[in-house]
Amino acid sequence: MTIQWFPGHMAKARRQVTEKLKLVDIVIELVDARIPLSSRNPMIEEIIGQKPRLVLLNKADMADTNRTNQWIAYFKEQGITALAVNAQAGKGLQVIVQAAKEILKDKFDRMKSRGMRPRAIRAMIVGIPNVGKSTLINRLAKKNIAKTGNTPGVTKAQQWIKVGKELELLDTPGILWPKFEDPKVGYKLALTGAIKDTILNLQDIAVYGLRFLAEHYPERLEERYGLEEISEEVVDSFDKIGAKRGCLMAGGEVNYDKTSEIIVRDIRNVQLGPMTFDFIGEAEKDSE
Ligand code: GDP
Repeated sequence: MTIQWFPGHMAKARRQVTEKLKLVDIVIELVDARIPLSSRNPMIEEIIGQKPRLVLLNKADMADTNRTNQWIAYFKEQGITALAVNAQAGKGLQVIVQAAKEILKDKFDRMKSRGMRPRAIRAMIVGIPNVGKSTLINRLAKKNIAKTGNTPGVTKAQQWIKVGKELELLDTPGILWPKFEDPKVGYKLALTGAIKDTILNLQDIAVYGLRFLAEHYPERLEERYGLEEISEEVVDSFDKIGAKRGCLMAGGEVNYDKTSEIIVRDIRNVQLGPMTFDFIGEAEKDSE
C-alpha cells in the first residue's frame, strides 16, 4: 500500500517514531540500495537526533554492486555504518547484530562499568513505505516474537522480537515519508516501486527511465529493446519499443501508455538488470 503524505500524516508519523525512539538504543534505517539518497526521509537527522544509527541498503540484489560499495564508503565517510542486505533472501543479515554491538560498544561498556546487568541491544527499524521493513522484521523474527499484551480489549503493548540473545527489535517499524520536492526523485521512487505510478505521469516516468538507461546502461537498452541510442526525439524510441513489444492500437499506431507501462515494469522488475539511480555526486550537491 502506498501512503499519500499530507502534513497531518507527516506529523503523526514523526510523533510515532519519536515516541518509540525512547525505547531503543539504536535506529536501523532501511533505505533502498538502488536509491540510497532518494529513499531516505528528508528529515531523518532531525527526527532521530543523537540516537545511534545503522543504515541498511536493502534490495541490494536489485542494485548495481559497484555503486552499492561506493555508497557504503560514502556513509562511512560521514561516520555512519552502512551494510548491504537482501531482506527477501535473508542475505547479509548475520552481520547486523555485530555492527550494532560495535556502534554501541562505548554505551554498553559504560553501563557495565556502572554495575548494570548486561542486556540485549534494543532497536527499531525505520524507513519509507515499500523499502522492505516488514520483510526484514519477518526474516529476523523467525519464531521469536515475544507476545505481550496481545489479549483482545487490552491495549497492545510493544512487542519485542528477539534476534539471537543480543538484539531485540520492536515488532512495528517506523514509517517515514519520502522526499517529494524534486521531480527527479519522484521518478526514481516510481521506477523502484516506492510510490505508485498514478502519482506522476506514467509517460514521464518511462521517459526518465529510458534517458537514464541511455546515459548509464546503454548496452542493456540495446539488448532488451534493440535500441542503439535514444535520439533527442524520445518518441522515436517509444515507437521502436512499442512496435517490438506489440503495443499497437487498432490502426497500427504505437500505444504510448502501454509502452510506458512496459518500460516502467521492466525497469522495476530488474528485467534490464540491477541498477542504481542515485549517484554520490548528487548527495554532495545536496549537502552544499
Ligand atoms: P515495507 O512497506 O517497508 O514493510 O516493505 P515490504 O517488507 O512490504 O517490502 C516491499 C516489497 O519489497 C515486497 O514485495 C518485498 O518482497 C520486496 N523486498 C523486500 N526486501 C527485498 C530485497 O532485499 N530484495 C528484493 N528483491 N525484494 C525485496
